[in-house]
Amino acid sequence: VTAGIGSVESPEDKSLGGLLPPGFDESSCLSRYQAALYRKASPHKPSPFLVEKLRRYEALHRKCGPNTELYNRSIQQLESDHSTGPMECNYVVWIPHYGLGNRVMSIVSGFLYALLNDKVLLIHVDQDMEDLFCEPFPDTSWVLPKDFPIENLGEFEGDATLSYGKLIRDKIINNDMRFATKVTLPAYVYLHLPWYSKEWDRLFYCEDAQQMLRKIPWLLLRTDEYFVPSLFLVDEYAEDLQQLFPERTTVFHHLVRYLFHPTNTVWGYVMRYYQGYLAKADERIGIQIRIFPLVPIPFETMLNQIINCTLSQHILPAIDPQEPAAAPSNAAKVKAVLVTNLNSGYHDRLRDMYYEHSTTTGEVITVHQPSHEKQQYTDQRSHNVKAWSEITLLSFSDVLVTTAWSTFGYVAQGLGGLKPWILPRHPRPGVACVQAVSTEACFHAPPDYDCKARKGGADLSAVAPFVRHCEDVEVGLKLF
Ligand code: GDP
Repeated sequence: VTAGIGSVESPEDKSLGGLLPPGFDESSCLSRYQAALYRKASPHKPSPFLVEKLRRYEALHRKCGPNTELYNRSIQQLESDHSTGPMECNYVVWIPHYGLGNRVMSIVSGFLYALLNDKVLLIHVDQDMEDLFCEPFPDTSWVLPKDFPIENLGEFEGDATLSYGKLIRDKIINNDMRFATKVTLPAYVYLHLPWYSKEWDRLFYCEDAQQMLRKIPWLLLRTDEYFVPSLFLVDEYAEDLQQLFPERTTVFHHLVRYLFHPTNTVWGYVMRYYQGYLAKADERIGIQIRIFPLVPIPFETMLNQIINCTLSQHILPAIDPQEPAAAPSNAAKVKAVLVTNLNSGYHDRLRDMYYEHSTTTGEVITVHQPSHEKQQYTDQRSHNVKAWSEITLLSFSDVLVTTAWSTFGYVAQGLGGLKPWILPRHPRPGVACVQAVSTEACFHAPPDYDCKARKGGADLSAVAPFVRHCEDVEVGLKLF
């Protein structure tokens, strides 16, 4: 039924060209191998170097994972309040921040950072994130154990005692990571990198910080950002990254498909909806509409933008004003539109438009929206199940329309390998939407410090060869 279906018959394809590891019990996470059946076939193969690096990472994670002997040894070091340098197993502990899309952005970034540094990524899963994501690494777990000795991880902010930025700002540490007054290293360092982090926090992205942080066995990471583009600006990583991702604009696509698989609970939601409403259509169009409470867009303005975009780009047909509307032929093509939004208004208006009129092409347009949750309730698990199901359903689209600035849309585009049509935040006359040049996500709040020139206020897109500003976020950076 889909473009992708023929492409997953060989074992090679089932593993997405070697991206997914062998050795999983398939029934414990049906989506891992089945999701590709519903997505467009990806034209991007992971490089052999990436495949090999992932297998080596998985072995490291098994060796160092929760409750192994080496993990326990690293925990003992953590409890001793100081460290003596890197250990056999060194960790990045990811702390959640903001909605699901932001969380996926930051986990992918934390994972690539761990991969480049031979560190192990563990994620702090509160009850609001339970049973959403399958384990990505075989025979181990990426979930931080509940008895992890540092409490209240969710409350860490830039003023935390062992915040890297604060230690640097107050000159408590220097580039050798030596305490000015003590000779021992801290047992852990907290990396404060949400969008509102300060310039001293963002010195993390410089090469000397990367080097000194390698000495610390435990790093706590809190961010909502896709900071991958910054890793490409660190010379030391350049060669590895070039080999891992010879096609630079596929980093997000490969890593998000590698790490994120809906659990069987979420897959149930996805499949019930897909089989019920979308499977039989000839083509599927995803329209992801995100209205940010701090930047409201009037309903009619946004609706017009959606209609102008889909009509001008020939994503959906125009309606035929003739009355009475002609009945479709039996052979009429059916396009199913999946709308996602926190409210039902856009869906209702689009559905009415195609219910009350026929189309100029004779196609039949059906319009569907799985939920309308009214508000973001990230602390509620049942709400996150729907959000994750809808992101997954959007990733099955043949054509995707997303909203500027939304990480919810980025995850769908990355999973689906789609170049979405983006509804801009500030539309210009005659431009209802622009198509993204790649499936890469945007780093919304990049540093403006040029580490090499040691100068602030820099536009890194002008300094660095691999990054440029994003289509949807002028100040953002994106790999190209
Ligand atoms: P962003 O804020 O658009 O970058 O995306 P996030 O995913 O980080 O945060 C938005 C959150 O609001 C989501 O995770 C959901 O909890 C909720 N949300 C926003 N739009 C939708 C939607 O269309 N459907 C559902 N189910 N939830 C949504």
